[in-house]
Amino acid sequence: MADPQGFLKHDRADAKKRPVEERVEDWREVYLTPEPEARDKQVRTQASRCMDCGIPFCHSGSAGCPLGNLIPEWNDLVRRGDWELASDRLHATNNFPEFTGRLCPAPCEAACVLAITPDSGGAVAIKRVEQAIADVSWEQGLVHASQSTVSSGKKVAVVGSGPAGLAAAQQLTRAGHHVTVYERDDRLGGLLRYGIPEFKMEKKVLDRRLAQLRKEGTKFVTGVEVGVDLTVDQLRAKFDAVVLAVGALRGRDDTTTPGRELDGVHLAMDHLVPANRAVEGDGPSPLSAAGKHVVIIGGGDTGADCYGTAIREGAASVLQLDQYPMPPSQRDDERSPWPVWPWVLRTYAAHEEAGERKFAVAVESFVGDAEGHVREIKLRKVRVEKDANGRRQVVPMSEEVEVLPADMVLLAIGFEGVEHMRLLDDLDITLTQRGTISCGTDWQTTAPGVFVCGDAHRGASLVVWAIAEGRSVANAVDRFLTGSSDLPSPVIPN
Ligand code: SF4
Repeated sequence: MADPQGFLKHDRADAKKRPVEERVEDWREVYLTPEPEARDKQVRTQASRCMDCGIPFCHSGSAGCPLGNLIPEWNDLVRRGDWELASDRLHATNNFPEFTGRLCPAPCEAACVLAITPDSGGAVAIKRVEQAIADVSWEQGLVHASQSTVSSGKKVAVVGSGPAGLAAAQQLTRAGHHVTVYERDDRLGGLLRYGIPEFKMEKKVLDRRLAQLRKEGTKFVTGVEVGVDLTVDQLRAKFDAVVLAVGALRGRDDTTTPGRELDGVHLAMDHLVPANRAVEGDGPSPLSAAGKHVVIIGGGDTGADCYGTAIREGAASVLQLDQYPMPPSQRDDERSPWPVWPWVLRTYAAHEEAGERKFAVAVESFVGDAEGHVREIKLRKVRVEKDANGRRQVVPMSEEVEVLPADMVLLAIGFEGVEHMRLLDDLDITLTQRGTISCGTDWQTTAPGVFVCGDAHRGASLVVWAIAEGRSVANAVDRFLTGSSDLPSPVIPN
């Protein structure tokens, strides 16, 4: 039974960050990990703010946790100091809570009743509690390899080792199937490895989870592009089912702004991947921001990742541009009391470190030097309106143009679906209009026995959705292979 008055005694307190001057000098995680005793006290206090609502919007419904995390249950267990049972209840719905605790923007917190209760002290710090449970679980040896005692004799290939692929692989291995994860890169993890900067989640957090999966029996093969190095015929001959968890990495480009063709104008991932490789020890990034005037176009997560990365690489200046004004605080439907999520303007830790943000602006043109390298951007004030069809359009607000230095421009304006790959052609996979992989209500694509999950199905989204879809697709594959399944299926295809 929760403390129904906990939130009246304590305000929300977020985890503390390392001092800016210290953290920009290295790549380690931004958030401090307090000593165990202090963490225990702080997190138990935060967990005690949960009211154990009759209808806990945080863990269900369209706005809450897609995994159906048992939030009030583990909040109360933490309040009482029962970390072991809290770990058990957290892992019951989430394969990788140390990923979501660090990376998820926490739709559960936006959905928490205390987020909209006046003078409540703020939403329960669910994400902080989740990360603490996960970290304590690892520190205290509560995370074990869970080896299946049965074997179905069925073989499953998972293509892609991001969070969706890993969640599907772990669920299917635990159900007794023989699972091989194929990764075309040289290291495992997908976006968790080469997309997410170390200062958000250190790779050792990923590596210890991969070690658990290996111990449980999941096999991993790196440096193999399925469809090329392993042909579709070979894939079909070897496996009874295939899960496509190939991400949605086709970056949206700017095809209209004059000067886009100049050297120094790049897609965001072209900057993040080599930067992450450099941190892994692969040598200096060929696209380092060191000494450059960096302009990032786009105000979302990927833009913020470029922002913090550029600062750590030693950029001369960092500027992030957003077409939207600051801050859009409510839905279009102003009758709704719920916080806007995830469209709310968010400030990331990186924005505290250095640099500048500009809002309600759009690039008029990129200006180059005689060698064809970008040196300036021209900006104009804009507003974003909806046209007669409800589509957003950018409308200039003044004739005045601002000219700013820019010798490295990063386009962080979203993703347009899966990359073109021979695998999809040879499997005869149908794509949606959004460029993602089409599937039925059983997660099966247009190729029989081939399933899809994560960003490849949903489009670029949150790590929590990737894990949820990985869990659900595992249920579907298990059902396909055996006729029934006891595996959980927290979400349905959209
Ligand atoms: Fe606790 Fe908030 Fe969830 Fe209610 S909505 S159960 S207060 S976390």
